[in-house]
Amino acid sequence: MPQRNPPTSTLPQDAHEREWLENVHPSGWRNPQPAERYSLVVVGAGTAGLVAAHAAAALGAQVALIERDLLGGDCLNVGCVPSKAIIRTSRLYAEMRNAEQYGGQSPADIRVEFPAVMQRMRGIRARISRVDSVRRLTTAGVDVFFGQASFTGPDALTVDGASLRFKKALIATGARPDTPSIPGLVEAGYLTNENVFDLTELPRRLLVIGGGPLGCELAQAFCRFGAQTIIVQSWPLFLPKEERDAAQLLSEAFARDGIEVRLNTKVVSVRVEGGQKLVDLVSDDYQSTVAVDAILTGTGRVPNVDGLNLEAAGVDYDNTLGIRVDDFLQTSNRRIYGAGDACLEDKFTHTADASARIAIQNALFLGRQRLSALTIPWCTYTDPEIAHVGLYVRQARERDIPVKTFTIPMHDVDRAIADGEEAGFVKIHVKERTDRILGATIVARHAGEMINELTLAIVAGIGLRTLARVIHAYPTQAEAIKKAADAYNRTRLTPTIQSLLRRWLKW
Ligand SMILES: Cc1cc2nc3c(=O)[nH]c(=O)nc-3n(C[C@H](O)[C@H](O)[C@H](O)COP(=O)(O)OP(=O)(O)OC[C@H]3O[C@@H](n4cnc5c(N)ncnc54)[C@H](O)[C@@H]3O)c2cc1C
Repeated sequence: MPQRNPPTSTLPQDAHEREWLENVHPSGWRNPQPAERYSLVVVGAGTAGLVAAHAAAALGAQVALIERDLLGGDCLNVGCVPSKAIIRTSRLYAEMRNAEQYGGQSPADIRVEFPAVMQRMRGIRARISRVDSVRRLTTAGVDVFFGQASFTGPDALTVDGASLRFKKALIATGARPDTPSIPGLVEAGYLTNENVFDLTELPRRLLVIGGGPLGCELAQAFCRFGAQTIIVQSWPLFLPKEERDAAQLLSEAFARDGIEVRLNTKVVSVRVEGGQKLVDLVSDDYQSTVAVDAILTGTGRVPNVDGLNLEAAGVDYDNTLGIRVDDFLQTSNRRIYGAGDACLEDKFTHTADASARIAIQNALFLGRQRLSALTIPWCTYTDPEIAHVGLYVRQARERDIPVKTFTIPMHDVDRAIADGEEAGFVKIHVKERTDRILGATIVARHAGEMINELTLAIVAGIGLRTLARVIHAYPTQAEAIKKAADAYNRTRLTPTIQSLLRRWLKW
């Protein structure tokens, strides 16, 4: 991972920038004198590392936290926070262009002040960085070390020339962007999530490689800022993990935004000519070349296992899958645990947080908390958003679980109609002949907010019968969930029950 050197950041040296860096990597920082032996050493100060360090220190453990770059990791610095900040502004521009739909008037000349968009983002990042700050950690009693951690034995590691011994350690080193091996790409130069938020000028023409969450979210945002955007995806649909109809709705939304969608297409080579990047594409049946000013890759993430000298610690790992952990998040070295993107398939901030809590309980208190017991929702923050929790139908079938699905299109929901946000649906899968919720997919403007109700239902064992009794405030888009529950209830009216009811009512 290209490490940032805060004093030479290329970003505008404004107040936001100064506050951010002062919080996440203060200039002139001096590492403390290490304690003789720590109860817990945490390597990596992203979400997982920070949650673990704070939780362990609050419980009275002597904790050291090591970070080679910026406290807050991907989420704060180059992930969730900056992406969601610019996505919000991009929605504003989309709505301005669409003002007629709401009885308003689109300004004749909508000019996107891209530097101002990025300045707002930096302000938000600076503000949120207070929570992840070095001051908060030291106040909580955590010894913070900046530098690259490298194990020297099963219970020791070095950082910046200092030797740290530990009873327990947590590896929370996260992941970094995978670089696709495309001839000419490196020479031509490309953006990833690690430098795209440093842009101060909007690329006029942008090619996004990869139709996963990162590629989809940023392609839509940059298109809405006015960049001529092409998105290339080697699969037949975006977000290959999601249900087909959800992914299909996203393709349609992209087309409405004016994104040039190239599915079933591969980038085969890149070259620079006349100051522009020429990108050769191969689709099923034809080859083409597009000229762009910038290329953004979002083709997956690889775990950070390099440079840790895991062999010295006896920790098994795989360069693609990361640190090998069991269901208790323990590695092959019983003193050392893993959490977050460094070891998990589901690479989300909330999973990093939840896994860190499990690792701390198991490491410090002989706990037996299992990763597999978690119910993990997720959301892709495109417009509409696509959120999911639990099983997909194909997964239920693989496990021989019979499934019945209840689907409510958002165009049947009053609030979605009033808001002009009718694209999407709520789809809830239950085990056939029961009301037990197996999983759900929501495509809606606020799907990320709505999925939490279904996650709660799954965790608490609340079935659709109960959800049908929950009064939902009218008019809200979450009423779609109640409508799906009502649809389930109607299936309970079997012909026998209906005839009994008829007889009762006649009597
Ligand atoms: C553009 C983008 C948008 C995203 N949006 C969302 C979202 O909306 N919602 C969501 O849930 N997730 C989102 N994610 C994913 C989320 O950012 C990650 O899942 C989360 O940051 C993982 O946290 P972590 O603590 O495991 O790792 P990280 O945040 O990667 O932190 C690991 C830290 O370890 C440090 N480190 C690595 N090796 C060493 C070493 N040897 N010594 C010392 N330090 C080391 C790194 O510098 C880093 O700071 C997004 C990701 C990206 C890239």
